Amino acid sequence: RVAVVGAGVSGLAATKCCLDEGLEPTCFEQSQDIGGLWRYTEHIEAGRPSLYPSVISNTSKEMSAFSDFPFPEHFPVFLPNALLLDYLRRYTEHFSLREHISTVVSIRKRPDFATTGQWDVVTQAGGKQTSHIFDAVMVCSGNFSEPSLPLQCFPGIERFQGQYFHSRQYKHPDLFQGKRVLVVGMGNSGVDIAVEASRVAAKVTISTTRGAWLLSRVFEHGYPWDMILNTRLMSLIKTNLPGPLSWWLINYKVNQWFNHENYGLQPENSWLVREPVLNDDLPSYILTGRITIKPGVKEFKDNSVLFHNCPEEEPIDIVVFCTGYTISFPFLEESIVRVENKHASLYKYVFPPQLQKPTLAVLGLIKPFGAIMPVAEMQARWVSRVFKGLCQLPPQAVMEKEVNEQKKNQIQWFGLTFDEVLKTEWLVYLDTLASFIGAKPSVLGLLCTDPKLALTIFFGPCSPYQYRLGGPGRWQGARQAILTQWDRVLKPTRTRVPAGSSSSLLSLLTVVGFLL
Ligand code: NAP
Repeated sequence: RVAVVGAGVSGLAATKCCLDEGLEPTCFEQSQDIGGLWRYTEHIEAGRPSLYPSVISNTSKEMSAFSDFPFPEHFPVFLPNALLLDYLRRYTEHFSLREHISTVVSIRKRPDFATTGQWDVVTQAGGKQTSHIFDAVMVCSGNFSEPSLPLQCFPGIERFQGQYFHSRQYKHPDLFQGKRVLVVGMGNSGVDIAVEASRVAAKVTISTTRGAWLLSRVFEHGYPWDMILNTRLMSLIKTNLPGPLSWWLINYKVNQWFNHENYGLQPENSWLVREPVLNDDLPSYILTGRITIKPGVKEFKDNSVLFHNCPEEEPIDIVVFCTGYTISFPFLEESIVRVENKHASLYKYVFPPQLQKPTLAVLGLIKPFGAIMPVAEMQARWVSRVFKGLCQLPPQAVMEKEVNEQKKNQIQWFGLTFDEVLKTEWLVYLDTLASFIGAKPSVLGLLCTDPKLALTIFFGPCSPYQYRLGGPGRWQGARQAILTQWDRVLKPTRTRVPAGSSSSLLSLLTVVGFLL
């Protein structure tokens, strides 16, 4: 019996993968409905993530899909949050995942944990608490519920007389009407909110200590960014080139749209790749003076702010702290998942290495340079096989050594070095977990048996269906889903075809376009 905590992206994938492996999952969700982060509510609920209604996925539908369940072809290429929730509901229905729903209060090791690996799970429903025994636990509660608001890092904030709040509180831009707005932090929330605010505010400034790479969803030749950057060919090049060359390649690619230095966005420590910001409007809003980029905040005054290395004070009415989230597991004993400096000590970002039995796993706690949904799903596939005893973990000392190495963030001699948040290369991570369960596709093997598929897999986007071609959980539809992925990308956009244009010529151009 496996307790799955949370019915968002990771929790739904975990429930489905447990069923695939013949385990008995029970999915606990405190909010009485599925969808997690992607279920928008106008009011902010304690302990739940809170979205603003304009959020659109940063990764494309083909790269974000669960590996045996493509998005409907008429869905747009990047998903508004309501459509992403719609997809999760379809997935839940299709695989009959709805289980009983109640609130997890606490999860504790049973007294005989060292021999049984079992857990006591206390749940609450209708004001009544019930205790259950589970053989294993998958923690899928996400990491966007607890805002990080480090006010101690902002001297003078206590005397600031304007309004300030964390991005988690933000829903609609009306409150910025005619105001001078400061957005602190250049993550995806910061840039989204600054762009929306600038349509009604008198002035918008973004303060960033480290800068960021900005990517457009509309990448080379108009294709989605992740379908161009996350290919096996690109990954091979990025991970095998000497570090400076890999860095130069990424630098070159991201500066093709506009020069980040000229727009005040160039990342501070450019050797460490941090999570990119996806926004199509920011460069033009900087060009047209609607948004100004400034360095980190030095000090707040009564009605203004001073930035580092800038002598002038800037008058401000509203500050939005887009300073991210902290990781927390309020229902777990602290010793089970060690969290320091926003970093959870987990083997392969999943298993606490110090447990005597590998019967607890944390899913979706990683931010790779690509879509999170297939990553959470792959983690669930691996974890359910570990729980079943079909995959073994290395000895504790080996896992702890690897976890400690991850924390050090040493510069890599080959390939890119990621910061403590972004952590790892998306495709390499997926391949690593896939190889643990025997689901990594063999391009060389396929070259002999199915060359068309092999070439599509190697040169084309690494869409998640690749991990269903073989191994456990093999899906008959995987080959077809891979060969038709570009059709589903073009379907919602090529809505007007001029008379006389031939569809086969267009398909050919599509292929040539993405190869170039
Ligand atoms: P985030 O990515 O964690 O960024 C927080 C930013 O706050 C940091 O990058 C840093 O910016 C600043 N900051 C943090 N601590 C600070 C301190 N002590 N002093 C000064 N500045 C500090 O947070 P987020 O933007 O809320 O995003 C959270 C997650 O949600 C991310 O994974 C993001 O990709 C995701 N998200 C996705 C979408 C979407 O799919 N459309 C939209 C929003 C968010 P500087 O280095 O610039 O100062």
